[in-house]
Amino acid sequence: MSISRSIAMQMEHASWIRRMFEIGVQLRQERGAANVFDFTLGNPDVEPPAEVIAALRRVVATDRPRSHGYMPNAGFPEVRARIAAGLAERTSLPFTSDDIIMTNGAAGAINTVLKSILDPGDEVIVLNPYFPEYRFYIENHGGRVVTVETGANFQPDIGAIAHAITARTKALILNSPNNPTGAVYGADLLRELDGIIREPTIVIADEPYRPLVFDGCKPPEVLTLVRRAVVAWSWSKAMAIAGERIGYLAIPPHLAEAAALRNACTFANRILGFINAPAIWQWVVAEVPDATVDVSQYQAKRDLLCDALTGMGYDAPRPQGSYYVFPKTPIPDDVAFIRMLQEEGILAVPGSGFGRGGHMRLSLTIPMPDLERSLAGFQRAISQVMVMA
Ligand code: PLP
Repeated sequence: MSISRSIAMQMEHASWIRRMFEIGVQLRQERGAANVFDFTLGNPDVEPPAEVIAALRRVVATDRPRSHGYMPNAGFPEVRARIAAGLAERTSLPFTSDDIIMTNGAAGAINTVLKSILDPGDEVIVLNPYFPEYRFYIENHGGRVVTVETGANFQPDIGAIAHAITARTKALILNSPNNPTGAVYGADLLRELDGIIREPTIVIADEPYRPLVFDGCKPPEVLTLVRRAVVAWSWSKAMAIAGERIGYLAIPPHLAEAAALRNACTFANRILGFINAPAIWQWVVAEVPDATVDVSQYQAKRDLLCDALTGMGYDAPRPQGSYYVFPKTPIPDDVAFIRMLQEEGILAVPGSGFGRGGHMRLSLTIPMPDLERSLAGFQRAISQVMVMA
């Protein structure tokens, strides 16, 4: 048996995450789990909200006929109608059940769209730094990744995006609140983006972190501000149910090619092997679509970490959303600095893993006591750098 060259190359690309995992296992063996501070995980460290578990129990107890079988590929019509009604209320756009396809998380939604629109060699713009799985999603469907650097505070650079658009640009993936930077994009910027997006390009707004925002920040509605946007949503982060793989794709009715795209995505969702989104969880999220974990615990960790790091001399701006902090490493070689942190038992992902060297991603899903105990290690690492300088 031999594995394909493309998957071998993709696995090589993905090696940062794998390496961090292996290093974590090794460090825990050497030092004991209590002395390892793992800032690498993108998995919520909290339990789902009580109302979600209560809804799950209700759904299971209801014994709805045909709850566990195949269904229309886009999902249960009644569930999609409830999701559409919520979206219509939020955006004032006339969403109906036809415009919603229930998916296997945001990852399933993005793959479904890309499968539907990409021909070999078509281009998809991603804004650097970016969630590294995008590369695989795009290449899965023969697409070509075009990276465009973000500007100040990791905000999209509209001029640079306009410059990168070609006749083959089929999509731009927009992720706000952002992984890995925590940036939230403002309304003015989205209006400017709307001004440069023309057919056949669509904007895929990847929004699994939408409710995870701090200091009262309210992310503007991409669906109303960017006319050629579709939304890939999941409840993975909002409800801390990433393992349940439940999300949706929303295709607004005003999109010129809405009907064709809907049909293609519904078919793509099936032939990618997803068939349909998880049945029981469709009913659960339909009952409590807006339930969200307690965001204040992430904000408390953000404040503690950013304040402490800044006090030590790190350049660690406070992110507005998601649950990641993306400070500069005190030396340009982020990989070398990540190794210094490992000496302190701290596991972080180098910015290079997201396309931006000289930075590191620290996840706020680390338990608070571990975060507190890790701070001395961050201090020793930067002190060492200062001595070397
Ligand atoms: N997009 C971003 C930016 C993410 O960080 C993730 C997961 O970490 C996903 C998409 C995939 O989300 P899901 O697991 O809900 O499919």
